[in-house]
Amino acid sequence: MMINALIALLLFIAPPQAKTNKAPLHEPKIINHLLSWGYTAVDHPRKIEAIIIHSSYNALTADSFSVAGVLKEYKEYGVSPHYIIARNGTIYRLVRDRDIAYQAGKSRLPNGTTNVNAVSLGIEIVNTPHDSPTAAQYKSLASLVAWLESKYPVKYVLGHKDIAPGRKTDPWNFNWKEFDRLVKEQKRSK
Ligand SMILES: [Zn+2]
Repeated sequence: MMINALIALLLFIAPPQAKTNKAPLHEPKIINHLLSWGYTAVDHPRKIEAIIIHSSYNALTADSFSVAGVLKEYKEYGVSPHYIIARNGTIYRLVRDRDIAYQAGKSRLPNGTTNVNAVSLGIEIVNTPHDSPTAAQYKSLASLVAWLESKYPVKYVLGHKDIAPGRKTDPWNFNWKEFDRLVKEQKRSK
């Protein structure tokens, strides 16, 4: 009797475990391909309140969709997102979530934050200004974003052009309605 009462009391006073009070979703399939450039290493968890969606393509050779080519470009500029999604939907992790990746540049969140890299994660979709992301890319992006939103207190999921208007135009030909629908589907089917 005493034990039951004690357990009941402990359950009652136990603090909530999850910071976001959402149960984390399953991690989508991600291939680790950590880079040696394009970020500042951080040795403690940081506040992640935004996810920034980008587009990039390989301008170095004829194969616009070559991930290796895109990474070569990032290396030249010393930049990187946290994740990149290939045309076939494969997700590569380039920078750890806790590290600050150089992806947003000079930009501003709706709440006025200008140090966007410090509080965000960047995801690149491989596509050019002349074509759209593939169905496989939308699907992978939705599962990745839904999973990240279940892990961090994300307030904003925005395109690069939304936080750097006039300076940036990506993500190109991006269907936000379809993306939102797929993210909701992911959250329902967990
Ligand atoms: Zn961008």
